[in-house]
Amino acid sequence: MGKGLKMARANKMYIRFWGVRGSIATPGKETVRYGGDTSCIEIRCGKEIFILDAGSGIRKLGNKILKEKPQHINILFSHFHWDHIQGFPFFAPVFNKKYSITLIGERKMNFTLEQLFTAQLMFPYFPLSLAELDAKINFQEITAKDRIIKNNVTIKLARLNHPGGCIGYRIEYGGKSFVYATDTEHFSFIDKALLKLSLNADVLVYDSNYTDDEYSGKIGSPKTGWGHSTWTNGIKVAKAAKVKKFLLFHHDPSHDDKFMDKLEKQAQKKFKESYAAYEGMEIIL
Ligand SMILES: [Zn+2]
Ligand SMILES: [Zn+2]
Repeated sequence: MGKGLKMARANKMYIRFWGVRGSIATPGKETVRYGGDTSCIEIRCGKEIFILDAGSGIRKLGNKILKEKPQHINILFSHFHWDHIQGFPFFAPVFNKKYSITLIGERKMNFTLEQLFTAQLMFPYFPLSLAELDAKINFQEITAKDRIIKNNVTIKLARLNHPGGCIGYRIEYGGKSFVYATDTEHFSFIDKALLKLSLNADVLVYDSNYTDDEYSGKIGSPKTGWGHSTWTNGIKVAKAAKVKKFLLFHHDPSHDDKFMDKLEKQAQKKFKESYAAYEGMEIIL
């Protein structure tokens, strides 16, 4: 990572997007600029590595990490829908004894975090079991009320509005803050928990899966209750919380590059510092 790593060492937060797509990977020439891999963001705070979700984008990130000195890795899970976990068994460090990896997320109903991943790697869905992975895998169960502190990094959490439950994360380091709020449906009012999580954040990454017309059913069937939001509702949060930069994220599989360019322009008219997240996007805070 060269430059990025040097900056991170200088008490900066380094962020890179490895997957920005929602629901299912969408490779192809129509999505080549924004990218087709599903949710995965790399965050470096000094020596700490945090990965937000293990969508298909985590595969390439794993190859990059393998080229560095072996280190401890934290993966924070928003929830366990396929598009947020499917890359986990293809994350190369899991097949290397030199790595220890802490998986951080909520337990679901009666299932412990460990059971959730045991089930993901179960016959006949995958040829290897969790126990056969080489890395040392630890599990850290959290609830939305928790606060995670690792070295000089503070991570605050909030409950989002998504079927089966979802966690939003705010990562604070060196006086800067990055908020990851994907897979959440807006209410008719601003979500108080999300507002608090996003307050004065440097960056807000938000579930912008649908346009207003798609959400309302003006185009296609109505998407109420599907657990996703729109960029217009995200901008309401961004303005109320006074965030510096708003990023559209979890792009719908049907939204190709041309469409994403259009959405970004529309969003910038309402909130100047709006950008559609793309694979390879880097931010240094
Ligand atoms: Zn998703
Ligand atoms: Zn989901």
